[in-house]
Amino acid sequence: MSNKFKKAIVVKIGGATFGSHDTTIEDIVYLQQHGKPVVVVHGGANVVTEWLTRQKTPTKFVQGERVTDEAALEMVTAVLGGLVNKEIVAAINDLGGRAVGITGVDGALLQSKLRNKELGYVGAIVKVNTGLLETLLKAGFIPVIAPIALYSEDKPDDAPPVLNVNGDTVAGEIAAAIGAERLIFLTDVAGILDSSGKLIPNLSPSEAGELVTSGVASGGMVPKIKACLRALSNTSTACIINGTKPHTLRKEIEGKGIGTTISKK
Ligand code: ADP
Ligand code: MG
Repeated sequence: MSNKFKKAIVVKIGGATFGSHDTTIEDIVYLQQHGKPVVVVHGGANVVTEWLTRQKTPTKFVQGERVTDEAALEMVTAVLGGLVNKEIVAAINDLGGRAVGITGVDGALLQSKLRNKELGYVGAIVKVNTGLLETLLKAGFIPVIAPIALYSEDKPDDAPPVLNVNGDTVAGEIAAAIGAERLIFLTDVAGILDSSGKLIPNLSPSEAGELVTSGVASGGMVPKIKACLRALSNTSTACIINGTKPHTLRKEIEGKGIGTTISKK
């Protein structure tokens, strides 16, 4: 893999951080204009929920997780692959950046199989094809990736061709696959908090894993920590920072980060 590709930064933007007049897009464009290759992965489950509610599509839950039936999958594809992805790409291009929006289906970037039958059409990633990413990065574009994958393994004939994948998982898998310089999660909290609600600035992979096991990290923080651990197999640093505060991304890259950093010590 080329050197330039090695230095890419993978940034995951969560549902809470876009559309709130934040400075994340500005920071992404700033990094690009200063020669830093950036890959953006986004979520947007909250926007999907809003559209499902608007369409009066009933939602089934299993152990607190939404079951993705065929109607929900269509909504995920339309809303994440269309609306949310294009809003981010438009915002980057509008500020003078150069971005191309794709889903994990494009260029067969993300290949997947069913994660758990009970959850419906939700995928586990089995392979990352980095070819299209490399092409886009070399041409000077920021790939902006919607978390939808090609349903490529053990697919019944009558099943849909794509699966809904967790955005945090996608970011971790991509960072690992391209050997990113670092993986950065922008979310709506200061970072990983301890049991008394205090920010933990630094963690080793095993300490981070322990926070999941003990339940100190729960809900939406669990896939983030798991993705950090996955990325650290081939990436030196993974961080979780507050995307709702001004310029946290730029500060993090410039070594003035104030979130949580997980790294092999
Ligand atoms: P995103 O849209 O960025 O994926 P999520 O809501 O999925 O955001 O995940 C972030 C949330 O994880 C926080 O808002 C918080 O409620 C929850 N969380 C659970 N455990 C922790 C923890 N130990 N430290 C920080 N946040 C935590
Ligand atoms: Mg989340």
